[in-house]
Amino acid sequence: MSIPVQKNDVVVTDIIGLTHDGEGVGRVDGFTLFIQGALPGEQVRAKVLKVKKQYGYAKLMDMLQESPDRVDAPCEIYKQCGGCQLQHMSYEAQLRWKRQHVVDNLQRIGKLQVADGTGIIVHDTIGMDESWRYRNKAQVPFGMAEAGQGTTAGSLVGGFYARGSHRIIDMDECLIQHERNDDAVRKVKELGRKLGVTAYDEESGRGLLRHVMVRSGFVSGEVMIVLITNGARIPQVEKWIEGIREAMPEVTSIVQNVNKKKTNVIFGDETKVLWGSEVIYDELDGIRFAISARSFYQVNPLQTVALYRKAVEYAGLNGTETVIDAYCGIGTISLFLARQAGRVYGVEIVPEAIEDAGRNAALNGITNAEFEAGPAEVVIPRWREEGIVADVIVVDPPRKGCDPALLDTILKMKPERVVYVSCNPSTLARDLRVLEDGGYKTVEVQPVDMFPHTTHVECCSLLVRKDN
Ligand code: SAH
Repeated sequence: MSIPVQKNDVVVTDIIGLTHDGEGVGRVDGFTLFIQGALPGEQVRAKVLKVKKQYGYAKLMDMLQESPDRVDAPCEIYKQCGGCQLQHMSYEAQLRWKRQHVVDNLQRIGKLQVADGTGIIVHDTIGMDESWRYRNKAQVPFGMAEAGQGTTAGSLVGGFYARGSHRIIDMDECLIQHERNDDAVRKVKELGRKLGVTAYDEESGRGLLRHVMVRSGFVSGEVMIVLITNGARIPQVEKWIEGIREAMPEVTSIVQNVNKKKTNVIFGDETKVLWGSEVIYDELDGIRFAISARSFYQVNPLQTVALYRKAVEYAGLNGTETVIDAYCGIGTISLFLARQAGRVYGVEIVPEAIEDAGRNAALNGITNAEFEAGPAEVVIPRWREEGIVADVIVVDPPRKGCDPALLDTILKMKPERVVYVSCNPSTLARDLRVLEDGGYKTVEVQPVDMFPHTTHVECCSLLVRKDN
């Protein structure tokens, strides 16, 4: 087929969908154009920016027909930032789109049948009553100002990478971030400026401060600050610590992580406590958790409770079962499960997280949970050889989904139920297909909105063995 549009053409198109990145999908003579900022149901005039063989990109020029779901994005830097993708869509419409996005993935990638009496039930997305300021963790890149950014050239800036680039734009407020985190980043930045701290420069590999990470416990109010630096030595470190403590009494832990590598990966291998505790504490549904700098901890604690309660409900426990929690992090889901199971085994690849998990069980007087560090796809097959048989297996893998070897072990171990917690509907759909082919039936899927105003969707799914 010849391509019906060229760069710089101005076209009119109806928007017929939204991609997983939140771009509007238009079609001109059968040719697909992705248009940032356009919503389904709209008709827009757009200028073609780039044309590839199968699709192209266009820039939104005028709105000819506006969607009733369109709202004004409240964040001033929304267009430059790229951290959120759906602020121009009403929250109700976001929740509806997220459910539909899950359905589409299950059907297209998983070749699964969604409800019509016999298919999978995909519930309405569980949303938040208050959808702003939900994040407990900020991870902010630092750089040096160029002239004309509203800051003196050469001074420290910290904020976000401009959409599609690695240029750092200074930012003092992020509307999805807890105020305490915004406040902490601002103060660390001010102190850094006063002390003449340099920021890391990606190109030359010089300069000290790469990122600042702030994590706060919503229930405990405790705050951890992590300075990620390009080198072990921080000049005037005592003054920086003193300044942070004076400005923010809620800070209970200041940590340094050293990353000297030329890489986009944020953290390096060396972590040391500069002041205070090695962990901060937080609480979910009455369970206390110690969280260290390198451990994974869900960023939206309110919705996490909704998600974990759903996982426990789907596990269908009566107090006697053996449960495996794969990809367990600091043992959060494990300890929720342990309150209602006979015995829980958790496995996780990050050793620090497993140390936290053990500590967390003890902290809550939970004695029926044990943890092991290692890849789930290696540890669980070994457990099976050692005679451990789970009645229920919960998995909560990273975006890339479960390792095939793990899925294979699940099929061999034959638990009655599998609860699949997923942050990526496409790998979820792929893995559900494997489990379906191996003898499981997906009963229901509950999308939970952990990341309002972004395109991310979290799901909790229940599978049961077909021969039951
Ligand atoms: N269930 C936890 C963590 C989920 S995030 C919670 O809700 O807090 C996914 C976790 O999987 C991360 O902690 C990551 O370190 C871990 N992980 C990644 N690959 C792994 C693997 N192959 N085996 C075990 N854990 C892994």
